[in-house]
Amino acid sequence: MNRLEDPSATLLIDGEWLAGDSTFEVVNPATLEVIGRVADAGPGQARTALDAAARAAGTWRSVDAETRSGRLRAAADAIRAEVESLATLLTAENGKPLAEARGEVLSCARMLEWAAEEGRRANGRVTPPGPNGPGLVVRAPVGPVLAITPWNFPATMVVRKVGLALAAGSPVIVKPAEQTPMIAAAIIRLINYTGLPAGVLQLLTTSRPAEVAGALLADARLRKVSFTGSTEVGLGLVRATGSQLRRMSLELGGHAPAVVFADADLETAAAGVVQAKFTNAGQSCVAINRLYVHRGVHDEFVAQLVRKVAGLKVGHGTEPGVTIGPLIDSDALAKVEKHVEDAISRGASVVTGGRRATPDRPDLKGAFFQPTILTGVDDSMLISAEETFGPVLPVFAVDDDEEALARANATEYGLAAYVFGTDFTRLWQALDRLNFGVIGVNEPMPLRPELPFGGMKNSGQEREGGSEGIEAYLETKAVAIRL
Ligand code: NAP
Repeated sequence: MNRLEDPSATLLIDGEWLAGDSTFEVVNPATLEVIGRVADAGPGQARTALDAAARAAGTWRSVDAETRSGRLRAAADAIRAEVESLATLLTAENGKPLAEARGEVLSCARMLEWAAEEGRRANGRVTPPGPNGPGLVVRAPVGPVLAITPWNFPATMVVRKVGLALAAGSPVIVKPAEQTPMIAAAIIRLINYTGLPAGVLQLLTTSRPAEVAGALLADARLRKVSFTGSTEVGLGLVRATGSQLRRMSLELGGHAPAVVFADADLETAAAGVVQAKFTNAGQSCVAINRLYVHRGVHDEFVAQLVRKVAGLKVGHGTEPGVTIGPLIDSDALAKVEKHVEDAISRGASVVTGGRRATPDRPDLKGAFFQPTILTGVDDSMLISAEETFGPVLPVFAVDDDEEALARANATEYGLAAYVFGTDFTRLWQALDRLNFGVIGVNEPMPLRPELPFGGMKNSGQEREGGSEGIEAYLETKAVAIRL
C-alpha cells in the first residue's frame, strides 16, 4: 500500500502524508465501533513540522494575495463537491445528526470563501504627513501558527483557523482533537490539494497533545497559537508561554444565558431556545446553559418547550428524523448525569427527560441522554455555574428584566447570550447590557462568517470571522518616513 492509500497516513509534514511510527483508534460514539486508526505524532514530528513551517513562511508571505485567495476558493469548491462524504464521516466520528453535519461542512466552504475575500483586503494605510514626512501602517503575516481544535465542531473549528491564517500569509500546523482526527485529515487533504507549497499547511494527529504542543511552544519560531477548547486547557497554554511571548487567540468555554421577555412570541421563542440548546446534543460552546423566563409567562413557556422537545428524536445520526446523537463519550455522560442529579437533590424538578436514553437499536452502545428540561433551578446548583455540555435545559423563573439581565451577566464566562422578545427598546437595552461576545436577538444561531466570533472574560480573547478575524493573524508595523 502506498502512503496516499494508507488511511492512517494522517500526518501532513513538509508536503508529505506520513503514517508515523504508531497509531491510535478512532471510535464511533454512537456504536463504539472502531472506525479507523490514525498516525500518532510525537514531539520529534512536531519539531520537523515547525522547521518546515519556518521555511515556508517566507515563500507563502510573498505569494500574491489574489493567488492565495484563489487557493482558498478552490478549497471551498472542493469541500462543497464532497459535502455528502464529509458529512457522513463527520457523523461517524462525532455522532451529530447528518443534517447538522451537512450544515457544518457547508459552513466550512462559506468560511473559506470569507477568508479568501478578507485576505485581499488586509490593507495597511498611509497617515497624514507629520513634521518631516508621512507615516505608514504596514500589515505583515504573523508567522507560523499552531491551531488546536476541539471535537464538537471538528470541521469548522479547523477551517476557521486555517482559512484566516493562510489568507493572511502565514503557515499553519493543525493539531485536531483526538476523538475527531479523520474529518480534520479529510478537509486538510482537500485544502492542500489546491496546490499549497510544502510546509504551508501541516497536520499532526496525536494522542499526546501536551507533548506535541509543548515542543512547539518551546520554540520561538512559533509566532501564534490559535486554540479552541476548554477554559482549563486554554489557561494552561497561557501559563506554558513562560518567557516566550507570542500572539494567542483563545476560544474557550461558555455558559450562555437566554432571556425570554414577557412580550416574546412564546411559540417562536420556544422553537429558538430548543434549537440553541439541543443542537449537537447540547455539546456546543454557545449552547444555552441558563434560561431566564419571566414568572408571568413561565408555565406557559415551559409547556411550549415541552411540546417542542417531544418532537426531538434521539438515535444514530444517520437515521432519518434523528435530531439528537450520542454524547462524545462516557465522561461526558457522567458530567451530564452529575449535573442533573445535583439539581434534583437541591430541589429542581424534571419536566421531561432526566436520564440516559436507550435508543431502540442493539448496536447503539454509546452515551445517549434524553433531552431534558429542569425547572425550579437556582444558583446553588452545579448546573447554574458549570458548562454541562449536554442536552439539559435548566429554567430559572425571574421577576423582572433587571433581575434577568443581572443574573445572565453573573458568570465568569462571556461567550454567547440570547434574548427573545418583541419590544425593540427592551431588546436594545438588553444587548447593550449583556457582557457577551456573541448575542442572538430572536436568533438561535448567531454565527455567520461576516460576524466576529469570540468571547469576553474567561471565554477567550481575539475574534474569528468578520473583518476582525484576519486581524488575529496580522502583525502591525508603524513606519515613520523622513523626506
Ligand atoms: P479540550 O479538552 O480543552 O481540548 C481541546 C483541544 O486541546 C483538543 O485538541 C485537545 O487534544 C487539546 N489539548 C488538551 N490538552 C492539551 C494540552 N495540555 N496542550 C495542548 N493541547 C491540549 O476541550 P474539548 O473537551 O475538546 O472541547 C470542549 C470545550 O471546548 C468546551 O469547554 C467548549 O465550550 C469549548 N469550545 C469553545 C468554542 C469557542 O469557540 N469558544 C468552540 C467549541 C468548543 P485531545 O483531544 O488530544 O485531548
